Amino acid sequence: MRLSIVVPLLNEQDNLVPLYEQVSAVLRDLGAEYELIFVDDGSTDESAARIAALHARDSRVKLLSFSRNFGHQAALSAGLDHATGDGVISMDADLQHPPDVIPQLVARWREGYDVVYTVRQSTDAVGLVLRLVSGAFYRVFRWLSRLDLPANTADFRLLDRKVVLALRTLRERTRFLRGLTRWVGYRSIGVPYRARARLSGTRKYTYRSMFRFALDATLSFSTFPLRLAVYLGALEALLGILYAIFAFLSWLLVGNVVPGWTSVIILVAIVGGIQLLLTGIIGLYIGKIYEETKRRPLYIVREAVGFDTSVEQTTRGDPLLTLHRDTEHDAATL
Ligand code: UDP
Ligand code: MG
Repeated sequence: MRLSIVVPLLNEQDNLVPLYEQVSAVLRDLGAEYELIFVDDGSTDESAARIAALHARDSRVKLLSFSRNFGHQAALSAGLDHATGDGVISMDADLQHPPDVIPQLVARWREGYDVVYTVRQSTDAVGLVLRLVSGAFYRVFRWLSRLDLPANTADFRLLDRKVVLALRTLRERTRFLRGLTRWVGYRSIGVPYRARARLSGTRKYTYRSMFRFALDATLSFSTFPLRLAVYLGALEALLGILYAIFAFLSWLLVGNVVPGWTSVIILVAIVGGIQLLLTGIIGLYIGKIYEETKRRPLYIVREAVGFDTSVEQTTRGDPLLTLHRDTEHDAATL
């Protein structure tokens, strides 16, 4: 059994050594063979240098450095693309995902589950507003995507190699790995954990980036907002017809023509607003189509430390190449 630990990070210099020590201690106790892949998502602090120093001490530590910040989900994807373990565990670098949960993840995996995700129990580390907003997002997302995505999950999970290979075939640029992991299927189970406070440094996600992330996740898993135009359009037309009948009857029976200046203005405003909104929604999807058709790579690797040469070569090119080579490699070793 060989494990890969994938850690995406952005400016986490002071968390790296504690994380390395805690994870290594847990894995040593498990008696597992492992590699620790740090994916440096364009850090501007000492993170990359500290990881390189760790690699000099312990060759199981590997480093992929991006040419700039490509985002947490891209960094996670890079880690999955280059992991060689039979099981791959992804976790954050700030120790909010406690390494002592790893043995439980591995135990469930050994029982035969292919996806072992974690469910955040403790809420001390997360503010109330954030919890409410996040809860609402999961409800809306589940309803729109028809994916049974459990709430309070993070990108802290163990994936069997076959799930990782399946995920590698999904190269869409708008990435919501929690959703994609659910989408590929396989047997999955949740393990509860208590989230801790971040060890040092600051959060990298801002409210703005979280809103974008939630919007991207929804757009990439549902086309319902597009169909909304049909439903709302039909409803509006129906209301218009009813109103026309009402106006005609009141003119016929009471001779009463509704003065109606206000109602006209209100209707114009509402209808105009709805039309702009729906045009905007269509625009959002067209934007996504445009981005996907460019087929740019998900990330660009500036430097790879600790990988064997063949992997190092492929990391410079299209990630699809990596996928191709690695599948070949798998077939050869089977
Ligand atoms: N992260 C990253 N790239 C980014 C933003 C964040 O690799 O553009 C990493 C970050 O270093 C951390 C993890 O993603 O290891 C989660 O980020 P953070 O702790 O800031 O978010 P939170 O846990 O508060 O949701
Ligand atoms: Mg965090």
